[in-house]
Amino acid sequence: MGERPQAVRGFDPGVPSIARMYDYYLGGKDNYEADRRRAEEAMEADPTLLTTINGNRSFLGRAVRYMASQGIDQFLDIGTGLPTQQNVHQIAQAVNPGARVVYVDYDKQVVAHGRALLAGSDTTRMIHADVREPRNILEHPEIKLLDFDRPVGLLLVAVLHFISDEDDPPGIMAELRAALPSGSHLALTHASADGIPDVVARVVEVYRRTSAPGTPRTHAQVTGLFGDFELAEPGLVWAPLWRPEHPVSPEEAKRTWFYGGIGRKN
Ligand code: SAM
Repeated sequence: MGERPQAVRGFDPGVPSIARMYDYYLGGKDNYEADRRRAEEAMEADPTLLTTINGNRSFLGRAVRYMASQGIDQFLDIGTGLPTQQNVHQIAQAVNPGARVVYVDYDKQVVAHGRALLAGSDTTRMIHADVREPRNILEHPEIKLLDFDRPVGLLLVAVLHFISDEDDPPGIMAELRAALPSGSHLALTHASADGIPDVVARVVEVYRRTSAPGTPRTHAQVTGLFGDFELAEPGLVWAPLWRPEHPVSPEEAKRTWFYGGIGRKN
């Protein structure tokens, strides 16, 4: 099979990478001039973009803790990103030291950094695969760290908006959901132009000149990605409003333009 057009073809510091731009937003050091320049353009397009990014990252923490509180002790995190503060295994293992995590990313640099961080661990793995080919993830030898006869916490946080409509996100998600046993949970965040369309359009325009252009989706489209999973309260909402740990105003939350939600397979 030929390599997909969007798949990361290797390491090119001259092409702004969505993973390295995200690392820059989060204050990381694994980024280059081209990434920083494009990230600065995105921050000009949306002056409160960092609030959105931090809100997304906070949601990830709450999602892992929520799933752990529901008894989930094994996680599949697709679209992991470059290692940063409070990675999924650190959050999960703070609740349950034996928790297992399989990370997946299609960016070779993310995978190399992830493997360096996780070297020697028998509770974590890092797989190089593309979510647009879910079979490659589900049949990967390293996924055997997870026991698919017991509930799994599946995370796709800030990744599905990088999958175009032609690549059929609902079909991808249906395949991933079908592989999970009853009691499993799915947590995702997804960009949407429902709230502040002009701002989101400007950011989308900037991302057209990166390694992976973005496709914001509506509330109904993102809800559809959960299939028949039952959404936990409060449903699919602007991510900061999902079981916040500090008071958040709805107006402030709407400006963050990422939906977040968690569903359970019954
Ligand atoms: N999930 C982390 C978070 O929310 O903090 C990181 C999100 S980062 C914005 C998106 C990540 O998804 C990047 O590391 C990128 O390489 C990865 N990604 C994008 N498209 C992907 C694909 N088709 N398959 C696998 N990973 C992908």
